[in-house]
Amino acid sequence: PGSQLAYDPEKKTVVVLGSGWGATSLLKTIDTTEYNVVVISPKNYFLFTPLLPSVAVGTLSPKSIMQPTRYLARHKTRAVTVIEAEATEVDPVNKVVTFEDDTEIKGNMSHTTISYDYLVYAVGAEVQTFGIPGVQEKACFMKELNDAEVMQRRFKDCIESAAFPGQDDTEIDRLLHIFVVGGGPTGIEVSGEIHDFLEDDLKAWYPELAGRIRISLVEALPSVLPMFSKQLIDYTESTFKESKIDILTKTMVKEVKDKSITLQMPDKSIQDVPCGMVVWAGGNKGRKITQDLMAKFPSVQTNRRGLIVDDHLRMAGANDIFAIGDCTSTAYAPTAQVASQQGAYLARVFAQMAKKNKLEDKLTKLEQSGTTAGADAVEQSSLKSEIETTKKSLANVKIRPFHYSHQGSLAYIGSDKAIADLPFANGNIASAGVATFLFWRSAYLSTLFSLRNRTLVANDWLITKIFGRDLSRD
Ligand code: FAD
Ligand code: NAD
Repeated sequence: PGSQLAYDPEKKTVVVLGSGWGATSLLKTIDTTEYNVVVISPKNYFLFTPLLPSVAVGTLSPKSIMQPTRYLARHKTRAVTVIEAEATEVDPVNKVVTFEDDTEIKGNMSHTTISYDYLVYAVGAEVQTFGIPGVQEKACFMKELNDAEVMQRRFKDCIESAAFPGQDDTEIDRLLHIFVVGGGPTGIEVSGEIHDFLEDDLKAWYPELAGRIRISLVEALPSVLPMFSKQLIDYTESTFKESKIDILTKTMVKEVKDKSITLQMPDKSIQDVPCGMVVWAGGNKGRKITQDLMAKFPSVQTNRRGLIVDDHLRMAGANDIFAIGDCTSTAYAPTAQVASQQGAYLARVFAQMAKKNKLEDKLTKLEQSGTTAGADAVEQSSLKSEIETTKKSLANVKIRPFHYSHQGSLAYIGSDKAIADLPFANGNIASAGVATFLFWRSAYLSTLFSLRNRTLVANDWLITKIFGRDLSRD
């Protein structure tokens, strides 16, 4: 009675925490014939993060980059159970995960546990604020869908408040000064998207204000986009200059206040600059549940960046836990590309493990029957040969280590331009401009997991091209 899991006691249970890049890629590829698969995530959808900044300015609608996890799960050979809940604790000794429904509406049952044979830990990361005062409370982020919606609302609010009758000039300039913090790809893409909104739409609808909107990008390091080649960094900086986006490098944010941002300038002087909005894109840090899990293995989990895994993506200290994506600390950058390749790799690992388990079971049975009394010489010899064949097959089941294949780095920088570092032969091709932008669009369109999402995104691009972005603020 009641709500039950799709469960076969004969099969091993794989619990997957998360529904992001790593988990979704695993789910897409895994053969569920041999496993009970249960996905637990506080979001019952996959979010296509590369296009999140486009949602923040209304080029795309939120639904276009979301894919309900159940859509993917229902096409599997055996049912996958999807649970909308937040995992709050992993107990690696008893192999149990505690999870709870943390949404507004709860039933009588909102907190329970599940046992696993294997755990796929793919909970991603949260935004790194370094404990800088005011960031958590006063800045907007660009990590989750809600962040993009909040940013859009605040940005439109700044403009409407600047347009309020009688607003004085100093206040208008404050309201229309937007700060983006972090010169990584997120900060660059957000700045580029805000600039497009300004050029394509706001100039027409708020002609007296649009020219006064200022975008400043703050980066503590000497350059933006350290992961891209030098010529693409230069290209981005010159494009931003043409777009009138100020890049402040070697500048560190010290505080975010209600109406200003405090900066430590390259000469170490402190400046308080009035502004209407701050978008924080300062990087990643591990979630609390990840820190708690690491604390259970203090001697081996020693990297503050995330979970240490071996070359088969098994968590150091717990062989039954596989960890993938942004929650890990590996030699790879925390990108969708890495997480999705790790997810697909794990699906292959599970297939190999199932094969291995089956052969091991068969071998045990064969060996046991060999000890049964009464078998004649012919039977003994055929049994012996079957045991040998099974052993050989078992030896042939290889579980290879994870190998990452870098497909290149791409980023949108606004003004219908993108930059791309693409691996080629033994080198790298750097490309930038409008053609790269078309490549960027087609690459992401084809990477979207479903035809439904591809259609929605292509349709949004067309609608925006024809009618412009929506100005209404909900
Ligand atoms: P996520 O995709 O973040 O998924 C984590 C999942 O875990 C989510 O479903 C979350 O709801 C769930 N979760 C959280 N807490 C819990 C919990 N307690 N219990 C259970 N589940 C939980 N990378 C690229 O390669 N190319 C790009 O163009 C690119 N663009 C980006 C643009 C933006 C704006 C951002 C923010 C990131 C971008 N990235 C890009 C990085 C990429 O999104 C991440 O590297 C990727 O999402 C990591 O995948 P993941 O599965 O580890 O984590
Ligand atoms: P990031 O870690 O790449 O960049 C954050 C930047 O913020 C750093 O350069 C850091 O120096 C700066 N910063 C932090 N605190 C600061 C402060 N107080 N003052 C000034 N500057 C400060 O973060 P991200 O851009 O969110 O990217 C996260 C991951 O997601 C990366 O691996 C990135 O490659 C990936 N990503 C990729 C793409 C893409 O490929 N197009 C897009 C977005 C994100």
